[in-house]
Amino acid sequence: MRQILAGTVASRGMALGRARLVQPSRYAVDNRPLAEDEIGSELERLHSALDTARLELRELRGKLHGALAREVNEFIDAHSLLLDDPELLRGLDDLVKIGHYRPGAALKKQRDKLAAVFEAMDDPYLRSRKEDIDQVIARVISALQRQTSAEERKLAARVGEILIADSIAPADMAHQAGNGLLGVVGSSGSAYSHSAILARSLGLPMLVGTRDALSSIHDDDLLLLDAEHGEAIVHPTAQDLARYRAWQRESVAEGRRLATLANAPTRTRDGRDIHLLANAESTTDVALARARGADGVGLYRTEFLFLRRKSLPSEDEQFIAYRDLVIGMGGLPVTIRTLDLGADKADASGLALRGEDNPALGVRGVRLSLRYPAVFTTQIRAILRAACYGPVRVLVPMVTQPDELIAVRTLFKLARTELEREHVDLPEKLPLGAMIEVPAAALNVRALLDHADFLAIGTNDLAQYVLAADRGNDALDNIYNPLQPALLRLIAYVITSGRRAGRPVSLCGEIGGDTRFTALLLALGLTEFSMHPSQLLLVRDRLAGLDRSALRKAAISLTRAATHEDVETLLAHMDPGFGPVASG
Ligand code: PEP
Ligand code: MG
Repeated sequence: MRQILAGTVASRGMALGRARLVQPSRYAVDNRPLAEDEIGSELERLHSALDTARLELRELRGKLHGALAREVNEFIDAHSLLLDDPELLRGLDDLVKIGHYRPGAALKKQRDKLAAVFEAMDDPYLRSRKEDIDQVIARVISALQRQTSAEERKLAARVGEILIADSIAPADMAHQAGNGLLGVVGSSGSAYSHSAILARSLGLPMLVGTRDALSSIHDDDLLLLDAEHGEAIVHPTAQDLARYRAWQRESVAEGRRLATLANAPTRTRDGRDIHLLANAESTTDVALARARGADGVGLYRTEFLFLRRKSLPSEDEQFIAYRDLVIGMGGLPVTIRTLDLGADKADASGLALRGEDNPALGVRGVRLSLRYPAVFTTQIRAILRAACYGPVRVLVPMVTQPDELIAVRTLFKLARTELEREHVDLPEKLPLGAMIEVPAAALNVRALLDHADFLAIGTNDLAQYVLAADRGNDALDNIYNPLQPALLRLIAYVITSGRRAGRPVSLCGEIGGDTRFTALLLALGLTEFSMHPSQLLLVRDRLAGLDRSALRKAAISLTRAATHEDVETLLAHMDPGFGPVASG
């Protein structure tokens, strides 16, 4: 019988597929004890499943590219570490050898034990890591089942499924998207979570907060996921299917229309030229940015060079990555951001300080770089060398006060002198800019402008610091809202201050590439947008329909609004394309 479940749209689109439920904590395992002569072969089976799980994670890492690869890789790192955890492995062996547990039952027992340890932790972040345990153990159990059951093997190979889960790890989503996953229905979760961001980037429709999904939907139920309207329809009718086919036809036509915009100029309806820049971290991103007609790279995150390894990358290694980026953009400007590492990112090189109580408020970004001038100088030298191959700008993350920019400039000067002595070719000029993502930097931006050649507003972090709401914490969706007037006032102030000082100001947080915010950002005076390359055509298209001078007149009322609800109402009046923000 047809049933409709309501959820919040985290990533738009529609999909028709069979439901596959993931209920990691309810593993069905065989609890009969092993006979003595089965122990050896079962132990082998367990180890081979662990190897398969490790291999799957390695393969997944190799396949990932794009702006979100860094975030997904953090999860892969965490999961890989768990799979090699000596205590977990010893516990499993003991359960099989001494306790006569079958591998599946041993995995479940270890899962329950570790989950209880994590659940008892005070720190909410560590407590939430219980999900990692579930996901890792589920991966091993699935490998174990694939070894024995032909049915499971068949299931694993089938495509056309919509995943129904409490939550899904970004790494698993990326893996399954490559294996025919069509969409995701989460019974909990937030539209601002890493998984939601990844789903948007992968173009996978996704609902979150679909409360009864796990109890109302059954494996293999036919499901129409309508993430345009926030509905999951179980056993859709012929009428539902006709609606789905109409949507498919429209989205194909829309895709064709957008493709024609690849070489079009970026201009508002009233003729104002806008700069569209790409956030990039891989060669795929660079290729896409070129193909979609980006005006340059507005944010190149260099952390990924440091995150996937145990030692620090050498100067040559960094030079090659930066040079290839510059060459890849074929003469268009490229903005390289210096290292933005901190204890909040899994840093295998060991550079970030450990044990900070509040890593997001700790030694991160330029604070960390200035603590390790030798490591920083290696990066600076690599950037200076790469800057001979095309126009490069340098962007400094997590700037709080002018002395940080002064110190970075000094290090650049010293590195220049050193390289000159080594007769290395050097660029004539290398503009140095500040990311505005710390509230103090935004409020004191005029002082920073004495030392910065350009500014880039990082709204992902600026929002979390202004609102005191962790950007990854799903429970704070009602606060972590880009329409909060306090945030808009700061953005408007930074843009105006930059313009008055004659310095370019771009914006490279998630909202820069989200068409629901395009009119708002135009109204606040933004003329340089930087975004994931997959968003470039959508934003170009949106801009073409907007009248900048009319929107600018609304800037004052937007920044004077009292609440984000008021901003939402104002925007709904100004911009017919504006949809509710909580619904992705
Ligand atoms: C930001 O904070 O908005 C930003 C673009 O940087 P990141 O997401 O890498 O912290
Ligand atoms: Mg940031």
